[in-house]
Amino acid sequence: MKKIQNYINGNLIGLSEEYLPVIDPSKGEEVSKVILSDSRDMEKVIESSKASFSEWSNTTPLKRSRIISKYKELIEKNIEHLAKLVSVEHGKTLDDSKGSVIRGLEVVEFACGIPHLLKGEYSQNVGTNIDSWSIRQPLGICAGITPFNFPAMVPMWMYPISIACGNSFILKPSEKNPSCSLKLAELFSEAGLPDGVFNVVNGDKKIVDLILESNEISSISFVGSTNVAKYIYKKSSSSGKRVQALGGAKNHLVVMPDANIDQAVDGIIGAAYGSAGERCMAVSVAVAVGDVADELVNKIQNKAETLKVAPWTDKTSEMGPLISKEHLENVEKHIANGIKEGAKLIIDGRNIKIQGYENGYFLGATLFDHVTKNMSIYKQEIFGPVLSVVRAKNYQEALDLVNNHEYGNGSSIYTSDGETSRHFTTNTKIGMVGVNVPIPVPMAFHSFGGWKQSLFGDHSMHGIEGVRFFTKLKTVTSRWPKSIQSGPEFVMPTN
Ligand code: NAD
Repeated sequence: MKKIQNYINGNLIGLSEEYLPVIDPSKGEEVSKVILSDSRDMEKVIESSKASFSEWSNTTPLKRSRIISKYKELIEKNIEHLAKLVSVEHGKTLDDSKGSVIRGLEVVEFACGIPHLLKGEYSQNVGTNIDSWSIRQPLGICAGITPFNFPAMVPMWMYPISIACGNSFILKPSEKNPSCSLKLAELFSEAGLPDGVFNVVNGDKKIVDLILESNEISSISFVGSTNVAKYIYKKSSSSGKRVQALGGAKNHLVVMPDANIDQAVDGIIGAAYGSAGERCMAVSVAVAVGDVADELVNKIQNKAETLKVAPWTDKTSEMGPLISKEHLENVEKHIANGIKEGAKLIIDGRNIKIQGYENGYFLGATLFDHVTKNMSIYKQEIFGPVLSVVRAKNYQEALDLVNNHEYGNGSSIYTSDGETSRHFTTNTKIGMVGVNVPIPVPMAFHSFGGWKQSLFGDHSMHGIEGVRFFTKLKTVTSRWPKSIQSGPEFVMPTN
């Protein structure tokens, strides 16, 4: 059985003797084992990150950018391989995996512009003969802790920008699918990144806690579930680290009576069931406004019933399995609760069997109608292919649902009315908002992040927010000797 270790200082190594099985969710079979790193691995990774920082932070941004450009080419060359690594350990379709690698690659592309992005501001004569300018300097050693659902893209939201800014970076990927991160690290070395600038350390809570407790680490970037995000935020900020901790979601898509219903249905189907609903921007609630509900539910039902659920090796697959047996059982529990609480189950995806993959963690598309705001299936993040339709009398009731939900990651409205759309984008208490777009994921040169229980900390990920997160601002005020007036000044200078 293959043993997956750490990538430290340009080598695949591991000191801990403890390992955890990595499962192919399509088959429910162990495909490899991943190391559960301990304090010995932690010591090595800190030593390597520390040693590389001084030289890397003093490497010119242009030289850093050239290495990143080369890295971009290598990712492009290896895209099929990277996508396959994602599909084997995650289960999503190959095209979807490829799409996710490309969305990560776009951050690498963005990071190539680092000489421009790090330009500061300059003011001449802030006082008589005094000039002032600002510079952004790297933080030191940064760390990222990432979830299972995007093994390539989410790490790439973090480390390319952090490294471009001159930091060294330690990645702790999800223990459920660690292989892609190791390949991404190897490719970065191949592109010319000095050893130790990008290290990958595998494991579970034990290594996460060692990362959070380390005084050598300056910042933590986290993406995962809300409870863990809160824990990470509290523990890291109490030890003075900079933190961005992105949590869970419950994204609403509002369908107005004046919307193009067929477009809305296509949007909902892809956004609710793509990647088996295991996306933090998945649509898990469709809000049908006014008299649109019956037609909307019928049309969603017709399309959802024909979705092809199959392993990623089947090219016609539209939806793969869930990540684990525990997660499958948890999602099934949510469905049972929905029925108990009185929601109308229109499509039941439970008990689906795929020939030859009977032990895989598959669940078919599931659809509930007449869901209300007090039901647990409405309140909680399910993270599976389960869509709830809530009926709202009018636009205001729909907006209140969106705004009163504890999560605030993404939300969309389908409408043909500009005034409604403008009101929605202005008044939703949500981080990422779409108009006639089902999953409003910002591009690499914008920034990704939610509000409320979906993000703890002040910075979203990537884009200029990423550059700000991974650098410290310094403002310099300077006057040259010949211009210095004699004698001390005891009042605040005012010009
Ligand atoms: P998770 O919170 O279980 O795990 C995320 C990471 O934290 C993993 O690396 C894991 O090893 C580590 N971890 C888990 N439990 C821990 C603990 N008790 N203490 C310390 N570290 C711990 O999340 P997941 O199941 O891998 O991913 C799914 C979740 O991620 C969903 O809630 C989803 O909404 C969220 N997510 C959010 C975004 C976003 O941008 N807001 C993006 C992707 C996923």
